[in-house]
Amino acid sequence: MRRDLFRHEHRALPPSWYAASVPPRVPLPPLQGARQADVAILGAGYTGLSAALALAERGFKVEVLEARRIGWGASGRNGGQVLVGYGCEVDTLEAMVGAADARTLFDFSRQGVQQVRERITRHGIDCHWIDGHASVPITARQERSLRGHLDTLVERYDYPLQWWDAATLHAQLDSPRYRGALFDPLSGHLHPLAFVQGLADAARAAGVVIHEDSPVLALQRGPHPQLRTATGSISADHVVLAGNALLEGIAPELERRMMPVGTYVGATPVLGEARARALIRNAMAVADTGWVLDYFRLSHDHRLLFGGGASYSALPPPGLGQTLQQRMWKVFPQLQGTGFEYLWGGYVDITPSRAPHWGRLTPDIYFAQGFSGHGVAAAHLAGEVIAEAIAGQAQRLDVFERLRHKPFPGGRWLRMPLLVATMAMVKLRDALG
Ligand SMILES: Cc1cc2nc3c(=O)[nH]c(=O)nc-3n(C[C@H](O)[C@H](O)[C@H](O)COP(=O)(O)OP(=O)(O)OC[C@H]3O[C@@H](n4cnc5c(N)ncnc54)[C@H](O)[C@@H]3O)c2cc1C
Repeated sequence: MRRDLFRHEHRALPPSWYAASVPPRVPLPPLQGARQADVAILGAGYTGLSAALALAERGFKVEVLEARRIGWGASGRNGGQVLVGYGCEVDTLEAMVGAADARTLFDFSRQGVQQVRERITRHGIDCHWIDGHASVPITARQERSLRGHLDTLVERYDYPLQWWDAATLHAQLDSPRYRGALFDPLSGHLHPLAFVQGLADAARAAGVVIHEDSPVLALQRGPHPQLRTATGSISADHVVLAGNALLEGIAPELERRMMPVGTYVGATPVLGEARARALIRNAMAVADTGWVLDYFRLSHDHRLLFGGGASYSALPPPGLGQTLQQRMWKVFPQLQGTGFEYLWGGYVDITPSRAPHWGRLTPDIYFAQGFSGHGVAAAHLAGEVIAEAIAGQAQRLDVFERLRHKPFPGGRWLRMPLLVATMAMVKLRDALG
């Protein structure tokens, strides 16, 4: 398996404010021996657990194999922003599948956010949901692009976005950095690790068996596919591959169409309620729209959680903490001198188009990847859509399968340098406004 961005014990969750702010859990026993299930799932993040829960609720016998711990991947470490839409804009979807399917896909993503809210309520998951998200432009070019996005989504997609001018934004966000905001009242934010652990508890209560510390070493394809670990195997009628950016060596045709990119989050010390709420008065989540975006929100214990940066190797970039801190101080100069008490990272799985890549490898093997940094709601949706397809209703998955994905140019070894070159050009364009 690929080494994590920060060294740590595999059996423990990666150190983060998230891991420090949930109660400790006893690890679930690894897989032992040969087992049978209706559905075997690789990966206990949002995708795998959402599919597991939806399938168990429909009466399927489901077993999940997790290499490390529940929520060990991106689902336990992300920025917590629960967003309508996908990693690409609707224009990209329209170019790929036409206006009608793009609209359908966008509406599915609205259902995804709604499902997240419903699951939290139905299963009593204590994950600190807060409404509201602002996309904020730094440059004139970014503002033009966001305003174009607003027109498209309001006029053609009936989506209730609002444009806030600089004064309206500054009444909520005490930062001099932005020109206005595209405010989305239906998106929001939550504690991502508490959410994924709550999903796991709901799935187990519905009868799902989860094996932790059980890395899948091989996928056997065929009419009764099998997932194998060092200590056992699960044969099933259906397999779901939900390993996201960490899936390595199991299905090369998926890996070629996705690239892991490191991104990072820092948590300040507790600021106190008054100081924290002075930064973001309505407590919404915020993200800018640069290529290497900054994304931030308040935690329920009144810290600022500030995410950003990107790396293209398994190692964190040198001086990561200082760089991220400088970025935070640019947004909130009043925090000058405040650093991070926690700092962690993880991989996002990007596709060349940033559109989601979900579908079937064979009639019995399903997968979802390519969330492109936009996966809290979308991965949850992917699990539901795959569960429906396994239960015989593939209409929603069929629409996703019409998004065709090319491999990254340059293949496995050159995809990284080529992306870095593209990034440099886009950064320059951003800097020129
Ligand atoms: C730092 C960071 C910030 C982010 N911020 C946001 C955000 O604010 N908003 C947003 O919408 N999205 C965000 N994302 C993206 C989002 O977190 C992901 O798209 C989403 O969590 C993907 O869920 P998943 O279940 O598909 O994958 P994961 O959560 O990565 O789960 C995959 C699981 O599969 C397991 N696995 C892999 N290979 C094997 C194997 N061979 N055998 C057994 N198990 C295996 C892994 O251990 C892992 O637990 C962020 C991601 C990161 C890393």
